[in-house]
Amino acid sequence: MSLEGRIALVTGGSRGIGRAIAEALGGAGATVVVNYRERADAADDVVQQIAATGAAAVAVQADVSDAEQVKAMFAQVKQQQGALHILVNNAGIVRNNFLAFMKEEQWDEVLDTSLKGAFLCTKAASRLMTRAKWGRIINISSDAALLGDMQRANYCAAKAGLLGLTRATARELAPYGITANAIAPGIVETDLLSGLSEQKRQAMLGLIPLARVGLPADVAPLALFLAGDGASYITGQVFCVDGGLNL
Ligand code: NDP
Repeated sequence: MSLEGRIALVTGGSRGIGRAIAEALGGAGATVVVNYRERADAADDVVQQIAATGAAAVAVQADVSDAEQVKAMFAQVKQQQGALHILVNNAGIVRNNFLAFMKEEQWDEVLDTSLKGAFLCTKAASRLMTRAKWGRIINISSDAALLGDMQRANYCAAKAGLLGLTRATARELAPYGITANAIAPGIVETDLLSGLSEQKRQAMLGLIPLARVGLPADVAPLALFLAGDGASYITGQVFCVDGGLNL
C-alpha cells in the first residue's frame, strides 16, 4: 500500500505505539511529522529511522494538552508541508490511583493529554483536511474504555471519551471525505507498562486468549490500513487489537 504524497502527523510518535505507527506510515511513503513532548532524542531517532527508508520525516515538539502549542505545531505543519492528510491522535499518559484517592491533577493531566489533546489536534487538522477533501483521523483509545480498569478512572474516562469524539468526528467530517476511526489496543509492551508488577503482568496474561502481551508492531498495521485509500468506506468504528482480551 502506498501513501506517497500524503502528509501524516502522529502525536506521541517518538516512542511505543506511536513510534511503530510513524515508522509504518513512513515505510509506506508518507511524509511523517513526529510529535513529541519531552524526549527530543527519541523523536530524532524515529525521524532518522524513517529517513533511512527513503521517506521524509520531521520532529515537532508540542504538548498536545496545551492549545497554544498545538496551534503552533499546526502552523508549522501548514507552513512546512502545505497540507495534512493523516492525523493519528496517539499521545497518552497514565496517572493511576484508586478513585477515592485520585487527585484532581491526576484526573486533569490524563484527560487533558488523551482527550483534550485529541480534540485540539482534530480541530486544527480538520481545517487542513476539509480543504483537501480527503483525510484520515485515527484515535488511539484502549480496551480500558470498554472494560474499565482498577485505579484508572481517569484513563478509562479519557479513552471512552475518545470513542465519542471519534463518532462525532466521523459524522461531522464525512461530507468532506474525511474518516475517523479508533483503535483500542489491549496490553502492549511499551514504557507505559514499566510500572507493572510481575504479579499483575502474569494475571493479565491469563486473561488474553492469544496468551501474550501485544507489541507496538501488532497495532501499527491496522493504523496503516485505516490511513490508506482501502479504508475509504470505514468510519466511526472502533477496532480492538488485544489478542482477544475483550472477547
Ligand atoms: P509510551 O509511554 O510508550 O509513549 C507515549 C508517547 O506519547 C511518547 O512519545 C510521549 O512523548 C508522548 N506524549 C505523552 N504526553 C504527551 C503530550 N502531552 N504531548 C505530546 N506527546 C505526549 O506510550 P504507549 O506507546 O504505550 O501509548 C501510546 C498510546 O496508546 C496512548 O494513548 C496509550 O494510552 C495507548 N494505549 C497503550 C496501551 C499499552 O498497553 N501500552 C494499551 C492501550 C492503549 P515524550 O516521550 O516526549 O514524553
